Amino acid sequence: MTVHFPFQNSYSALPDSFFARVAPTPVAAPRLIKLNRPLALQLGLDPDTLETPEGAAILAGKTVPDGADPIAMAYAGHQFGHFVPQLGDGRAILLGEVIDKDGVRRDIQLKGSGPTPFSRRGDGRAALGPVLREYIVSEAMYALGIPTTRSLAAVVTGEHVLRETALPGAVLTRVASSHIRVGTFQFFASRRDTEAVRRLADHVIARHYPDLLQADRPYHALLAAVVERQANLIARWLLVGFIHGVMNTDNTSISGETIDYGPCAFMDSYNPAQVFSSIDEMGRYAYANQPRIGLWNLTRLAECLLPLFSDEQEKAVAEAQDILGAFSDQFSAAYQAGLRRKVGLFTERDGDEALIQDLLDAMAKNQADFTLTFRKLGDAAVDDGADARAQFMEPAAFDEWAGRWRARIALEPQGPAERRAAMDAVNPMFIPRNHRVEAVIQAAVNDDYAPFEELTKVLARPFEDQPGHAAYADPPLPDQRVLQTFCGT
Ligand code: AMP
Ligand code: MG
Repeated sequence: MTVHFPFQNSYSALPDSFFARVAPTPVAAPRLIKLNRPLALQLGLDPDTLETPEGAAILAGKTVPDGADPIAMAYAGHQFGHFVPQLGDGRAILLGEVIDKDGVRRDIQLKGSGPTPFSRRGDGRAALGPVLREYIVSEAMYALGIPTTRSLAAVVTGEHVLRETALPGAVLTRVASSHIRVGTFQFFASRRDTEAVRRLADHVIARHYPDLLQADRPYHALLAAVVERQANLIARWLLVGFIHGVMNTDNTSISGETIDYGPCAFMDSYNPAQVFSSIDEMGRYAYANQPRIGLWNLTRLAECLLPLFSDEQEKAVAEAQDILGAFSDQFSAAYQAGLRRKVGLFTERDGDEALIQDLLDAMAKNQADFTLTFRKLGDAAVDDGADARAQFMEPAAFDEWAGRWRARIALEPQGPAERRAAMDAVNPMFIPRNHRVEAVIQAAVNDDYAPFEELTKVLARPFEDQPGHAAYADPPLPDQRVLQTFCGT
């Protein structure tokens, strides 16, 4: 049996300045630790052959499959607000693209597969911990219904990578609808290469926004479409308590998928100022700052597109500002609609927004668990709300609010069971809690992958109760709390 990838590559057909041709660096002893079989099937790949030693060799970058055209993509980016004119895939190599079962073009990329011309001082490698973290969290996001890159496989390389200590090396196979970022546009715009910006924009429109080919002003429409997808994406993050951690422009996908799972984390108790990333000392990428940063990143994209808007700069700037102006309303609409669903409101009335904000304020004050408060509020639609109440340090704060909530839901015709079902469908029981992710990584580093298997299985059905796995819903005990996360590069 040979492993067959039905590659149909388009990015590597773009001009040479878009990438560097580079093959993965072979590794000593590849061993497959996880294959995402449903995703393999979705991509038109045969999971059985991918599970053979030949498959593991490909997924580790030891052999390059037929039809691949391996490249490292060029990009720039603002990192924590500072512009770096050249970043690029320093530890990732795009093998090629396949068309999936739904007709969607998907990148297949190896992350941690050795140095590239963009590696700068890095070794081009990834450690097992961050690879598993990305696998777990990206697949959890997918199960939550949030646009994201996916994880097809994780392999260990049989080699060590040197970080603060020697760690087992690993490679993640990442699948994305593309790896084009705001930073990809910045790479060319900062070099004043307007023709390349246009070429990239045309590629993006054809690939991600084909409806815009008919638009009067396709480049304006492209900016508007990316703005809309990012506004919706960030609203979705907030609604599940997700903190990306490194919202640099090179980690902002043009397709609107969540990309680059580094020091990301889900919060346990609700705190709008929550930061986990060890390198985010100023809290730039704190939970509640994410919409603002999203708009900042989109403004950087708009700057790149100005020369395509008009030769008159003032006119182009005004048009860009007009388009960016839609972000706040789009974000708020998506966020508020999501919150209404989370508290079980089927209709919209004056005062709803304030009512929900009062709940959030009480949660923050009482260190209520974000996920469990909403999940148990669903139970409160059918019972006395004791479990929701128990999330609050001072339960009286919940009681006062719950009285007003009960009066509000009584104005709607839906019965308790219907309301609870609707709430359970949007309020997950299971999220990748930090302490669980850390425990799984610790076990895996000691060659025990059973906890990883179990966690990924639970997180694949986040909205189901799964009584046998109830403990996975629990917040950390005080001594299990993870206060910081690391990007692990
Ligand atoms: P990230 O923080 O993962 O978004 O990466 C930022 C930049 O650093 C990208 O250009 C990466 O390719 C590069 N990079 C991160 N880790 C490594 C590494 N171990 N070796 C080479 N380049 C890296
Ligand atoms: Mg990145």
